[in-house]
Amino acid sequence: EASNARFFVGGNWKCNGTHASVEKLVQELNAGSVPSDIDVVVAPPFIFLDMVRLSLKNEYQVAAQNCWVKSDGAFTGEISAEMLMDTLVPWVITGHSERRSLCGESSKFVGEKTGHALDVGLKVIACVGETLDQRNSGSLWYTLDSQMQALFPNVKDWSRVVIAYEPVWAIGTGQVATPEQAQEVHAYLRTVLANKLGEETAASVRIIYGGSVNDGNCNELATMPDIDGFLVGGASLKAPSFLQICNSVA
Ligand code: PGA
Repeated sequence: EASNARFFVGGNWKCNGTHASVEKLVQELNAGSVPSDIDVVVAPPFIFLDMVRLSLKNEYQVAAQNCWVKSDGAFTGEISAEMLMDTLVPWVITGHSERRSLCGESSKFVGEKTGHALDVGLKVIACVGETLDQRNSGSLWYTLDSQMQALFPNVKDWSRVVIAYEPVWAIGTGQVATPEQAQEVHAYLRTVLANKLGEETAASVRIIYGGSVNDGNCNELATMPDIDGFLVGGASLKAPSFLQICNSVA
């Protein structure tokens, strides 16, 4: 039951960049070309988001790396989903493992945030993934299932959701999941979706892989039937690598 969905490549710039480096990266991306039949979405830090949105050519879309769980109000230091909509930012990443581990975001909180972002009109890249301990102690499927179950009560419109599978042990480590390891989990996640939403909806949801994706390993990963794209961290800061990953679509 592989998917029939449009290939999707996200670039998660994380907390990196200066005005000068971001301007240069945008210039290099604008000079490159990506296939017209895929979605390419880059996620700069908030402070550069509007600048990047206005200067990137329209083959690219932008995402925020996070947003607040509720509407505007007394939430010092936060950015609301409504503000993203108002600033014409179409996408937001939710539940990235760095926010789960460094900022204490629970699956329940990620589920609520995802629901709120969708209700306001955003499209969402919702991240799931296990730690090495969870994988080694036999709780891989339990972990992924509970992260997925937290999304279901909050998501009404699955057409605006992309699921990113990012094993924590592969993020920023250079230790990419093998194509077989990734495929096994992606197929499982699609079954979880199918059990809840039916086969047809499950086949239409993009399930993308993240964790040490680079221009050397993307092609083999992209041939896997349930891998519908990538979420790229480190390699998305280098235009030639990121462009090559965008052109890896099988
Ligand atoms: P990485 O990060 O590509 O640097 O491993 C991926 C991510 O965190 O989205």
